[in-house]
Amino acid sequence: MFLCLFVANPASLTLFQRAPYSGRSLESELDEQWMRQALVAAREAQAIGEVPIGVCIVSENQLIAVCGNRTRTDCDPTAHAEIVALREAARKLGNYRLTGVDVYSTIEPCAMCAGALIQARVRRLIYGAPDERAGAVVSRFRICDTDFLNHRIEISAGVLEAECRALMQEFFQTRRGRIVD
Ligand code: ZN
Repeated sequence: MFLCLFVANPASLTLFQRAPYSGRSLESELDEQWMRQALVAAREAQAIGEVPIGVCIVSENQLIAVCGNRTRTDCDPTAHAEIVALREAARKLGNYRLTGVDVYSTIEPCAMCAGALIQARVRRLIYGAPDERAGAVVSRFRICDTDFLNHRIEISAGVLEAECRALMQEFFQTRRGRIVD
């Protein structure tokens, strides 16, 4: 009876599926370690007037790229941290397919970046805080696990979520009343 109730409740099922951080597994410790690298890039982006989002890309436990947002700096609407990092990783690895690569982003990717992650065939996406306004992994769209795609990305959410979220909140609070993106 309990099992039936549990499965019938979508909220419980979701919680059950998405709770990889209840213990201190080696993977979760590594995820936090790499997310700290992404947070460094986010703070560096903030220091040059960019929205504080950072990304690092890891392959076989080696850091391949670590980048922050550069849209203003480069005068390029596509220069989100994910895109900048994917380009750098592809150049370094000499392959436009980034199969087997893990992408750490401080914030849930937008539609453009989620699409780029699919195009790159990345293995895993790990992000910190959700973007309720424009997130395209779970919040607004589910681009990374759409049925018709033949590539699925493994997704982990909520790694160092509080720190990732605080950085964005601080940024938008200090810029309140101004157009920021
Ligand atoms: Zn984006």
